[in-house]
Amino acid sequence: MTPAEPARRRIKLLPDRLINRIAAGEAVERPSAVLKELLENSLDAGADRVDIEVSSGGKKLIVVRDNGRGMDEDDLLMCLERHATSKIGAEDDLMSIKTLGFRGEALPSIGAVSDLAITSAAEGGEGHKVTLAAGRLLGLAPVAANRGTTVEVRNLFHNVPARRKFLKSDRTEGAHLLDVAQSYALSRAGLRLTFRDNGREVLAVEGRHDFQTRVFKVLGRGVAEGLTPLAWEGEGLHISGWLGAPDHHLSSTSRLFIYVLGRPVRDRLLNRALAEGYGRLLPRGSWPAAVIFLDLDPAEVDVNVHPAKAEVRFRRPQAVFSALAEAVAGAVGRTPRTDSPWNEAPSRRPTRPERPDDDPTALSEPPTEPVRPPWLDDDPAEPPLPANETPHSPDPPPEQARPEPAPNFEPLRPLAQLYQSYILAEGARGLYLVDQHAAHERLLFNKLKLELAQTGLPSQTLLLPETLELQPREARAAGKTAPPPGPPGL
Ligand code: ADP
Ligand code: MG
Repeated sequence: MTPAEPARRRIKLLPDRLINRIAAGEAVERPSAVLKELLENSLDAGADRVDIEVSSGGKKLIVVRDNGRGMDEDDLLMCLERHATSKIGAEDDLMSIKTLGFRGEALPSIGAVSDLAITSAAEGGEGHKVTLAAGRLLGLAPVAANRGTTVEVRNLFHNVPARRKFLKSDRTEGAHLLDVAQSYALSRAGLRLTFRDNGREVLAVEGRHDFQTRVFKVLGRGVAEGLTPLAWEGEGLHISGWLGAPDHHLSSTSRLFIYVLGRPVRDRLLNRALAEGYGRLLPRGSWPAAVIFLDLDPAEVDVNVHPAKAEVRFRRPQAVFSALAEAVAGAVGRTPRTDSPWNEAPSRRPTRPERPDDDPTALSEPPTEPVRPPWLDDDPAEPPLPANETPHSPDPPPEQARPEPAPNFEPLRPLAQLYQSYILAEGARGLYLVDQHAAHERLLFNKLKLELAQTGLPSQTLLLPETLELQPREARAAGKTAPPPGPPGL
């Protein structure tokens, strides 16, 4: 622009439709985020029955049907407006939110980037169905409907090619959808939840299922049978849940379900506290299965820090860290390394509850309703860890496997055998004790590795087939590598 050009206004207000599409990018970045918002709405509406149906990784279709309190005709139109919510009204309400949603953005955002239909009926009222195409209202008509709401999202991101391009394969998006369904299926007792992917039911929990059964349905028999209950009570902090046996560990945190005030969260600090609690029971670089509920004074946590509400910020992260680490250590039978600074009051009672079968009622109540705390002026940076940083992980990224450095041995000269199990040897840098059994295994392993690399190992098919029990996620992963690579040998 030259100085001679007339001054033109360069800053303009965006049209609403465009604002919605931008907002959609924040809260709704992939199909699983849509499902999360819809599920939260169903639970906020008091539903205890939710049926989910998806196809093509949610790109073609996501349907969530609930038996919640529903909406009348007016509300059905109103819910599509930006910042329209029934959940907060006055500014004070921000301090005491009892719902999962509170921003009033999800439905208009989803509507702006898909073909959306919502059918809803309130108790004793007539049902209505509203339809939209890419944010444009197509129609509103009375329909026959039971109390509750059905939201159908078709052709997600069909009008936002840039976003659509970033979606992964149907299989991957489908796995994310299942993750979301699983995490809500575990989030509260009394909830009946089903999930159908391309017409196949892959998850179903019943309202009457206790937590162990839910864990069995979501994480499989192996995990469900080895659960240890977790219970810890502090001033304004209640920790409860179930811990998987250390030998059922994974190299990822995918079987870790942590809820803060009933809200599923992904939190590095909490993950690390869990690992700290297990200590050496857990091999390096591995994570247990666990379902953990943290219910604390809403003033201690800010839930309004993440567009998808997947993260929270604690006012006293170190204290929460120590409390969880202590709770877990106590539950798995370890002596906690430190005393939790959560509260110095003598009322703090770490409890070691009975086995789950002794106490079938444990955790069978829904977690405390989530609430919105006041704004906290805490430092937004990654919360520091306690001074006694976990011995479990020096400081690698906690979400991934922590690789063990390969030891580099100098030549050794054996001196003696001890207890028929150890070899005492000397090297240039000192004395060594070698576990001869482990050393033998290592030698065999190295020999097999070498043979595999050079000539390949001989193998034969099993006389009796081995049946593997897989979780849906594992079955998908196995399907991905089909045809099976075949065992390397033996
Ligand atoms: P928020 O959940 O933050 O209020 P949404 O855009 O997700 O915003 O929903 C807007 C409003 O629509 C909600 O406040 C609620 O009153 C209503 N609503 C949405 N989904 C449902 C549902 N499944 N059942 C009943 N009411 C719903
Ligand atoms: Mg919502």
